[in-house]
Amino acid sequence: MNIIQLYKRFPTQEDCREHIEVVRWNGKPKCPYCSSVRVTPAPKESRYHCNSCNTSFSGTVQTIFHKSKVDLQKWFLAIALVLNAKKGISARQLARDIEVNKNTAWLMLMRIRKAMRDQGDLLEGIVEADETYIGGKEKNKHKSKRANLGRGAVGKTAVMGLLQRGGKVKARKISGTDMRTLHTLIKENVKDGSHIMTDEWGGYYGISSKKDYKHSIVRHSKGNYVDANAHTNTIEGFWALLKRGIYGQYHHISDKHLNAYINEFCFRYNRRDAGAAFETLILNAITA
Ligand SMILES: [Zn+2]
Repeated sequence: MNIIQLYKRFPTQEDCREHIEVVRWNGKPKCPYCSSVRVTPAPKESRYHCNSCNTSFSGTVQTIFHKSKVDLQKWFLAIALVLNAKKGISARQLARDIEVNKNTAWLMLMRIRKAMRDQGDLLEGIVEADETYIGGKEKNKHKSKRANLGRGAVGKTAVMGLLQRGGKVKARKISGTDMRTLHTLIKENVKDGSHIMTDEWGGYYGISSKKDYKHSIVRHSKGNYVDANAHTNTIEGFWALLKRGIYGQYHHISDKHLNAYINEFCFRYNRRDAGAAFETLILNAITA
């Protein structure tokens, strides 16, 4: 959804509020505290009163919009800008675009990222698995050095990714690239019988003995491809996109927030062809 479409669809604050309530309750407001549907609207304050537990609530309670002084139109605009920003958007840029201060923009971005979470569906078919390192000064540290983890990767965080060829990507930071960590993540996220493609890193050895997986290994070092389809180019392309975004827009990301940024890039990548990204994000924002 572009900005013009957004403004046509949600011309007022009230339209945004109504949309959240429709997505949330589908016309039947329900008390968020006791789940009662015996509620009475208090239209003046855009709130509801629960006749069961005697509390009042708004449509945005327990959502990422809750207790925000920023009006909902700016929130919707921020969401559209984040979804359209292939390389990410900095707090400074968002602050200028929607006229809020930089700290507010930063907090909004963190909340929006919270709603850009993985839906938990399993990957299947051909799945490329790979790891990369983020942080530190050596932005493009070569993989062959990763065996020196500890000395060679000081200040860097390892990130593991799984990408279904022609489908979705999942990624998150990991504490190490050992076999147990890598195997666990694959088993948790990839359907039985899928075809896993990795490079020759030892952490992937033995994965074909789990869950009927087939395993093809790409031997980068020998330039020797088993067959033309055995490659990890797609996930490597995703790493390039993620790193350009992180180093270009965000400069420094603390380890604590890294998964939030990774989620943002995965979410956009996974919905690159789907017009439903905005709706999915609103739905996630409500159930955040
Ligand atoms: Zn109630």
